[in-house]
Amino acid sequence: MIGYLIYLAAHLFTLFPAPSVAVQKLAPVKSDPLTKYIYLSFDDGPLPGTNNCINICEQEQVAATFFEVAFHQSRSNFGRSAYKRIASNPKLFLIANHSYSHAFYGDYIHYYHQSDSSLADFMKAGRILQTNNNIARLPGNNAWNTSNIKRASGLVRPLVKKMDSVGFNVVGWDMEWRYNSSGRPIDAPEKIAAFADSLLKFNKTKTNNHLVILMHDHEFRASADSAKLAKMIGLLKRNPNYQFRKLNTYPGLKK
Ligand SMILES: [Zn+2]
Repeated sequence: MIGYLIYLAAHLFTLFPAPSVAVQKLAPVKSDPLTKYIYLSFDDGPLPGTNNCINICEQEQVAATFFEVAFHQSRSNFGRSAYKRIASNPKLFLIANHSYSHAFYGDYIHYYHQSDSSLADFMKAGRILQTNNNIARLPGNNAWNTSNIKRASGLVRPLVKKMDSVGFNVVGWDMEWRYNSSGRPIDAPEKIAAFADSLLKFNKTKTNNHLVILMHDHEFRASADSAKLAKMIGLLKRNPNYQFRKLNTYPGLKK
């Protein structure tokens, strides 16, 4: 707990308790001739927990996308070295843009009302993170803007339009592994894997047969919690039709 308070003080984020995802009780997924693609995505790093996410994905040999906050990357040796670890394994990992300041450190209304400075915040992050792609995710908002998917609330629409005009793909998520007020994952890995199965089985994803899972690096900083991440990935890997991919292979991205 003390460790977590230090973490909170250090990271300036407001963590909101969030309700647990609703999960339907379903029979195990039956074999399906269609391949289904899973995109693991970790937001807000580099933060405590990032190295555990890297270790587990490398152990399990599953691809993942890290939506990094450039301020976290650039402010410390820890941030730069975690970033380098991700960048050094391009076969498994993709680094994508999650802004420089994370919405002025969580001031979403102010950030999205100032679309010129928030666009500049993303451009600055792109330079620091040296992303070799045009994939971005908005802080605290599940907006999408690709060739195929357009989804933006009134609050974020001015920024999304500007990002579109300079060539960004904005990519949100289909489901989230939420965390509690202590920053720890709420649901059990079995529940998350079952929810992923059900979304794919019943075509409840933005693109059929493609599932984007949002997680946050810091959820997995404790070894008991990083074991849950490994468990969840192991459960998904049992399905022979599932393939793990980086988000640069998601269908319908603008070139
Ligand atoms: Zn975020």
